[in-house]
Amino acid sequence: MPARPLCYIALPFPTRTRMTAILKYLGAYPEQTRAQVAGLIEQDRLADVLRERYPDAHGIRTDKALYGYVQDLKDTYLRNADPVAKVAYDSKIQVVQQALGLHTAISRVQGGKLKAKHEIRIGTVFRDAPEAFLRMIAVHELAHLKEKQHDKAFYKLCCWMEPHYHQYEFDVRLYLTQLDITGERLWK
Ligand SMILES: [Zn+2]
Repeated sequence: MPARPLCYIALPFPTRTRMTAILKYLGAYPEQTRAQVAGLIEQDRLADVLRERYPDAHGIRTDKALYGYVQDLKDTYLRNADPVAKVAYDSKIQVVQQALGLHTAISRVQGGKLKAKHEIRIGTVFRDAPEAFLRMIAVHELAHLKEKQHDKAFYKLCCWMEPHYHQYEFDVRLYLTQLDITGERLWK
């Protein structure tokens, strides 16, 4: 272990900022996990760890391609759920809502029945990212077609659609932490 400096003013990123980012994205994870992440950041290794784990970005760059990608997942796993009217990348998502994706349902009456029009918006951070990250967020938003709350049933559905769901979500949060601290996009 390298010696810890007593004064952090000379470090490129103040510890306070680092800890704020870690708490913001990994606040729900155990203390020990957060300490490991803090260690990786301190050693400037987080970006390399992520790039090694996920060498390539996916090629789903347009809203049209994204719609097809999400629709394929829905056809495979949630064929009987309500249809999704629109799927799009949205650059405002992370900034405004502090969220990764957004699922909206506008209820309207159709043929005497209340029907919901579902739209899924996915943060543009997932456009230039590994497929695993896009898949995680697509699975998350699709699961909301069936389960509204982030409860046990919801995560069970996510894991059924993508068995590595929790690992991918954790890695997405690692990347957001990395982005928050350095602003450096790892995939293009
Ligand atoms: Zn959600």
